[in-house]
Amino acid sequence: MSFTSLGLLDPLLRTLERLNYLTPTPIQDEAIPIILKGRDLMAAAQTGTGKTAGFALPLLHKLLQEGPRVSDNRTRALVLVPTRELAEQVLQSFIMYGQDVPLRSYAVYGGVSINPQMMALRKGVDVLVATPGRLLDLYRQNAVTFGQLQMLVLDEADRMLDLGFAEELDQIFSALPRKRQTLLFSATFSEAIRTLGKELLRDPLMIDISPRNAAAVTVKQYALPVDKKRKTELFLHLLAQRGWGQVLVFARTRNAVDQLVEALQKKGITADAIHGERPQPARLRALARFKAAEVQVLVATDVAARGLDIDALPHVVNLDLPVAAEDYVHRIGRTGRAGASGEAISLVSADEVAQLAAIEALMGQTLPRQEEPDFVPTHRVPVTTLGGHIVKKPKKPKKPKIAPGKGKSKIHLGNWFDES
Ligand code: AMP
Repeated sequence: MSFTSLGLLDPLLRTLERLNYLTPTPIQDEAIPIILKGRDLMAAAQTGTGKTAGFALPLLHKLLQEGPRVSDNRTRALVLVPTRELAEQVLQSFIMYGQDVPLRSYAVYGGVSINPQMMALRKGVDVLVATPGRLLDLYRQNAVTFGQLQMLVLDEADRMLDLGFAEELDQIFSALPRKRQTLLFSATFSEAIRTLGKELLRDPLMIDISPRNAAAVTVKQYALPVDKKRKTELFLHLLAQRGWGQVLVFARTRNAVDQLVEALQKKGITADAIHGERPQPARLRALARFKAAEVQVLVATDVAARGLDIDALPHVVNLDLPVAAEDYVHRIGRTGRAGASGEAISLVSADEVAQLAAIEALMGQTLPRQEEPDFVPTHRVPVTTLGGHIVKKPKKPKKPKIAPGKGKSKIHLGNWFDES
């Protein structure tokens, strides 16, 4: 299948040719004709599959072909996203794919001044990319109204629910015209997402590109058991020993992110941080520096995980496991993108065994474990099996009775590592 046979308009085809996009990705192959037909769509597709172009291209096509010009303070297509980073990334995609068409795209999100956003919306924008909270603020101040809205896209809808945007989303939906086309994209189809889909979509077509809740097949995943207090040390060791180039590291808390960045910088390794409590310009700068290869290691929390568009990153490291198993899928989606292969390595300590089991149950596979010679943990990570059951530590064999004065016998506790 080629982009031409999908029926996209000439100016869009010319842009794709210039971008050297030769063939559509599977999600683009499936989604573009459905969207062009005007059907509602619910699609399970991870970042890295080309899903942004999968909705941006047909959306631009339809905006060019249908409907009147956009009026002041209005928008014709609304794309809701969970994070500021993703808003910027999706906007950049619209600008890139729409470079040869006379349509205006813009992004609004919190953490920056609202006034320039109000000004920009005055003349109306064809495509508005928005995080829910800031969009509601702008709507309440009449900076944007939805009388002309033709299309609604929810991108990374599962993440929006995870981040607690359900109430804001409801308020936004009640302000939108009922007659519209709605597209819902989500990395995973949880029950909550299915319920949201039922409420929002009219007779939708469903696409499930990746096997449900599974990671891109090109990603080699494994767990490295280690004692909790030695994680930073192990990461520094791996970075040096394995000659890694640029690495994206995920940590659960802001403190853990900052501590690792500090430890790396002390060793003269360039590193930067992305987490929710850094001001937006600092987050964008960190990402830009990483993309420009000015820093070797970027350390991020899950809040920032969704928006990062970094091509063919060879290594993603989980300094600790995420609390929500679905975040694991998003984290490792940063490697092996667009067909490139990658490694996702999780440093796992004994107290994280429940998270590990939950991740394995979601993924439908146990993570192979590797031991790093000088870092074999004293607190062993219990064996996990599929289905989330943690194998309980067997009872210690009874101590053999030792005659006084004959010394202590060593008790063999068995092998706690999953050999799979
Ligand atoms: P996404 O999943 O939308 O974040 O896209 C992942 C990456 O794939 C982005 O860097 C896109 O520029 C790139 N991409 C998307 N579609 C194609 C295509 N058909 N051919 C080549 N690269 C693409």
